[in-house]
Amino acid sequence: MASVDFSAYRQLLQELQPRNVKLIAVSKTFPTDAILALYEKGQRDFGENYVQELVSKQKVLPKDIRWHFIGHLQTNKVKYIAPFIHCIQSVDSIRVLQEIDRQAEKCQRTIPVMLQVHIAKEKTKFGLDEASLHELLKQHQAWPHARIIGLMGMATFTDNLEVIRNEFHYLKLLFDQLKQTYFSDNPDFSELSMGMSHDYRIAVEEGSTMVRIGSLIFGERKSN
Ligand SMILES: *Cc1c(COP(=O)(O)O)cnc(C)c1O
Repeated sequence: MASVDFSAYRQLLQELQPRNVKLIAVSKTFPTDAILALYEKGQRDFGENYVQELVSKQKVLPKDIRWHFIGHLQTNKVKYIAPFIHCIQSVDSIRVLQEIDRQAEKCQRTIPVMLQVHIAKEKTKFGLDEASLHELLKQHQAWPHARIIGLMGMATFTDNLEVIRNEFHYLKLLFDQLKQTYFSDNPDFSELSMGMSHDYRIAVEEGSTMVRIGSLIFGERKSN
C-alpha cells in the first residue's frame, strides 16, 4: 500500500483554497491505490507525465478524475490521450498544438491546453521561448479544438530562492502581457500553472493559479 501523506495534503488545501489556487496532485510513478486513496478524500485533479502510464491508470480509475498531462508530449502519442484528457499543460511546439487540434476534432471535443514556457536556466527543460510564443499565439485561432487557457512553467531546480522567485515573476509578467495582447476579449486565458513541492509557496506569492505537487503528498519518487 502506498503511503499518502494526508496531513500534508490537508495543510496544502488549507493554504491554497483561501487563495483560489488549484491543486494538481502529481501522481507519476505512484500506484493506482495511492491515487484512489486521495480520490476518496475528494481530490479530482491529477497530473501525469508519461502517456503509457497515464492511459493504463485512466482505464482502471474513476472516470470523473480530471487528468492533466504535464510531461513532454510526442506528436505521435497525442491520439492516445485525446479522448479523455482534461488539460494538456505542456504544449511546447506548434506541431504538437496542431496535432492536439486534429485529434480533438476527431473526438468531437475541444481540449484545454496550456503553453509551457522555458523559464529555467537548465537546457534540459522543455518549453517555448518568447519569440515562439508570439509566433504561435498570432495564429492560435487556426486551432479551434485546442483552447489555450494559460501558461505553465518550471523554475530552475536550485536552493537559490531568489533565482526561483525571479523566474516565476518573469512568467507572471509574460502571462499578463500575452493576455493583454492576444486575449483581451477572451476570458479563456486565465491560468498560470507554476509551483511544485519545493517552490510552490514562492509561486503562489508570484501569482500562480495552479500548483503541481507530487512528492510532498505521495513521498519521494524512486526515479524520474
Ligand atoms: C514531477 C513534476 C511535478 C511535481 O514535482 P514534485 O517535486 O514531486 O512536486 C510538477 N510538474 C512537473 C512538470 C513535473 O514533471
